[in-house]
Amino acid sequence: MKIPDLRIAATSTAMAHALARASFENQEDLDLMIVEQAPEACPTCDSIQELQELIKNWKGGRNITMAFAHCTASHQTATVQSILNYWENVRKWKNPGYHIIVTPDKGWTMLQPFELQSNGVLNYNANSVHISYIGGIDKKGKPVDNRTESQKQIMRAFFEAWKVKVPRIQIYGHRDKAKKACPCFEAKNEYSHPF
Ligand SMILES: [Zn+2]
Repeated sequence: MKIPDLRIAATSTAMAHALARASFENQEDLDLMIVEQAPEACPTCDSIQELQELIKNWKGGRNITMAFAHCTASHQTATVQSILNYWENVRKWKNPGYHIIVTPDKGWTMLQPFELQSNGVLNYNANSVHISYIGGIDKKGKPVDNRTESQKQIMRAFFEAWKVKVPRIQIYGHRDKAKKACPCFEAKNEYSHPF
């Protein structure tokens, strides 16, 4: 920035004005740069960081070779508690269906520690971890990918962290291993790209 030096050397009023204007325009450029560099508001960031720390710091206790994506195949308004009740009372499951469930509005809940199995995909649970978003059906009950942006980000962060933890981990959608629509999107493709 040579403008301050030049300003000292400016003798004519016209030059002083020109320099003042140049300085002002520069200041505007600077402001724009600052705006562009400012971190965007990220309401999901804390949730993502917390989830990734949890995976990073997991002490082990089970050989994890696969990670699965699911949807709850419920309306997006379903509560975590109603889903837990369904598994326990209707399906008579001893273990929850997933390790992590992702709500539409920024958050996630751990339903089962990673060292224990969850009931995600029949015959594949011994060596796998499971994450699900709440949703996956439209108003008529038909399968649909209705993940919110926050759910997308949290699920991606989950697989990203597992890839770091277990570099050879294989990532699937439930439907890659069963005749189901779950999770209503191509998880294998979506998460096979480099993070
Ligand atoms: Zn599923």
